[in-house]
Amino acid sequence: EARIGVLALQGGFAEHVAMLESAADARKDAKVVVEEVKYPEQLERLDGLVIPGGESTTLSVFLCQNGFGEKLRAFAREGERRRCVWGTCAGLILLSDHLDSQKQGGQVTLGGIDIQVTRNAYGKQINSFEAPLKIKAPALFRQAPPPGSTHQAHDECLGVFIRAPGIVRVNSDLVQTLATLDRGSGEKVVGVRQGHLMATSFHPELTSDCRWHSYFIDMVVTYKSSTSL
Ligand code: GLN
Repeated sequence: EARIGVLALQGGFAEHVAMLESAADARKDAKVVVEEVKYPEQLERLDGLVIPGGESTTLSVFLCQNGFGEKLRAFAREGERRRCVWGTCAGLILLSDHLDSQKQGGQVTLGGIDIQVTRNAYGKQINSFEAPLKIKAPALFRQAPPPGSTHQAHDECLGVFIRAPGIVRVNSDLVQTLATLDRGSGEKVVGVRQGHLMATSFHPELTSDCRWHSYFIDMVVTYKSSTSL
């Protein structure tokens, strides 16, 4: 059994719970239990965690209370039992090692992915947009896209961007590109993975395509089986 939590302090956690549940239902190989995480004590029993989108400054306020931030940092970074974390949008900001200082809102960051990030890089709320993305991770595009989806190619998916952070630089070879966006001004990295940590500046939980959630479940199951030997 793998137990995956969704941080439920603020932001779009309910959609992630629903997507993880449908991705888990579609799998036969591993039993996956999904729970909303509201208290730091819950982290101890988890094998993986999703940090949803929302507002990273507000999320930080919650994380400064009752040692949540420290417990979360330890969860993702310390010990032999490293557990997988996936941050979407505001969650990506938290997992990045370098945050553009001008737009910094005093966020508590956890770090772990060696990227430079700038907040609200694609403009304001009204500039939110959807665009096709190129998927770069073979394990992701080996899965079939959902029936009836507008993005039928296996190496494409829909990217939903809402006041999204931009990845302005990838600093390390350890960071693997999972997805890119090209709106005519060159390919931009919008999804990354560094070992047990994954981050996307877009919102797969707001689409009907649960391949990203299924990919994360794979990560969690693989890490769990390799560290419990
Ligand atoms: N703009 C938000 C922030 O800086 C992130 C937006 C989102 O998560 N949809 O925290």
